Amino acid sequence: MDPASSEPPVDPSESRSFQRWLHKAAQVSGIGLTADERDRDRVEVQHRRCEQWKTELLNYSPSVVFMLKHLKLSGCPVPSSNIVCAPCDLTRSGGFHPAGAIVLCQGHFGDKKHMEDTLTHELVHMYDHCKFNVDWKNLRHHACSEIRANSLSGDCRYMRELGRGFVSFSKQHQACVRRRAILSVRANPMCPDEAAAERAVNEVWESCFGDTRPFDEIY
Ligand SMILES: [Zn+2]
Repeated sequence: MDPASSEPPVDPSESRSFQRWLHKAAQVSGIGLTADERDRDRVEVQHRRCEQWKTELLNYSPSVVFMLKHLKLSGCPVPSSNIVCAPCDLTRSGGFHPAGAIVLCQGHFGDKKHMEDTLTHELVHMYDHCKFNVDWKNLRHHACSEIRANSLSGDCRYMRELGRGFVSFSKQHQACVRRRAILSVRANPMCPDEAAAERAVNEVWESCFGDTRPFDEIY
């Protein structure tokens, strides 16, 4: 005899195990959840993934480990608790606060490599803030750090050459660094317009693009 048929008929909507199953299935497929629940679950999944990638990068990423080491040597150690995974608006992937904290925008990363580039980028800003007297309201100062952060982070795919000791600045790489630096300076509240952002980047380009500290110090 089929055991199931010996059980009293149950209205699925009143069965707690059915409800549990439904909830679990819905978490996987995304059906049956309200928009709020879906959002909350997605944010949780993104947060856990971001924290896991962060831990891996802090331990195993050559560029992240290298930057953390040089920040420490420069008297500005960055504890992992100061690197925070958080939801942000999706126009950005990360941010740096001069008080010594970095935010990683947990919903923004399609893969760990992208997060590695962003974290290295923010660590270059932190290094500049630690070593040099950066006034972030000064567009030329900001432009200089953006040029370095974009060039050195892998945002423009350049680390591999640098790692081998061949510093080859392709035209494509330079164009990418310039474009991204202008975008970031344009977002500075002190920047009145696109032309001012371009001017700031052009004015400091030569000296800042050629400044690869601390990466050049080991070769
Ligand atoms: Zn930046």
